Amino acid sequence: RAKNSGKNRYQIFNNEIYNEMKREYEIEKELTKALERNELYVEFQPKVGLSEKRIIGFEALIRWESAKLGKVSPVEFIPVAEYSRLIVPIGRFVIEETVKKCYELIQHGYDDFNIALNLSEIQLRDSEIVNDFINITNMYGVSPKYVEIEITESLLMKSIDKNIEILVKLKELGFSIVLDDFGTGYSSLNYLTRLPIDVLKIDRSFVNDILESTKSRCIVEKIIELSHNLGIKVVAEGVEEKDQVEYLRSILCDFVQGYYYSKPISFQKAVALMDSLSI
Ligand code: C2E
Ligand code: MG
Ligand code: MG
Ligand code: MG
Repeated sequence: RAKNSGKNRYQIFNNEIYNEMKREYEIEKELTKALERNELYVEFQPKVGLSEKRIIGFEALIRWESAKLGKVSPVEFIPVAEYSRLIVPIGRFVIEETVKKCYELIQHGYDDFNIALNLSEIQLRDSEIVNDFINITNMYGVSPKYVEIEITESLLMKSIDKNIEILVKLKELGFSIVLDDFGTGYSSLNYLTRLPIDVLKIDRSFVNDILESTKSRCIVEKIIELSHNLGIKVVAEGVEEKDQVEYLRSILCDFVQGYYYSKPISFQKAVALMDSLSI
């Protein structure tokens, strides 16, 4: 009997692995055609300035509506895009969409804003990445000061010195560098001094239980204090409640982002919200 259940477990295990591999294979196969089929698009989530009391910009987040697979979350397809290197052309699409939207906002008379995009380490290591940023911003005549580049600490360690060099180049060109998901990777504090960071984004896992957990409050407070001492601004991500906003305001957090203000939405809706939201 024991032998039987052992065998069953083995089969379940195999089936799970098989299903996962099949799904990944399908995602990769469909993702290859996603760009040319116009299945990819970008949504924008507002970032609110707590002292400005207004929407000070957006984060660009990629979306995929696959003809064959339906809506697929970036949490699922970005890793596939990374190992297949499809992230390079897909990421370039996101850069261009972001710069295009900056151009449109400037055309409509907006000035004091920025749009953040997520950059994978695979893109950072692509030899053309700096040229891509230069060419795309030049093409639209958009100053790099409007564009923020978000990177995550978990992947940076792989080739840290080379990555720092490229980030320094991008910063010298005028782009802002944001350290995303802060607190979830490792060597976090090490990064604060080694990377040319302008903004730090506290991961939503800390923000989640900020009202319930003394420990989370303590950590978030100290991260903000430390960042400010280093000349780094702080965004809290995943803010879902008014009381979280009020607490973050009281400890001098600079910016907040989360469902409390808005989920990621179409650019048109995001701009309308920027015009109408009173905080
Ligand atoms: P991220 O960069 O940390 O983006 C924040 C994620 O948290 C987004 O999920 C956003 O929709 C979600 N979020 C924002 N506010 C709240 C909130 O109040 N509550 C909750 N529960 N969630 C909130 P999304 O859009 O599914 O993206 C997931 C991740 O996929 C991103 O995490 C980022 O790592 C990656 N990603 C998204 N777009 C791109 C892209 O264009 N390029 C790359 N390389 N990665 C991307
Ligand atoms: Mg991000
Ligand atoms: Mg994040
Ligand atoms: Mg992330």
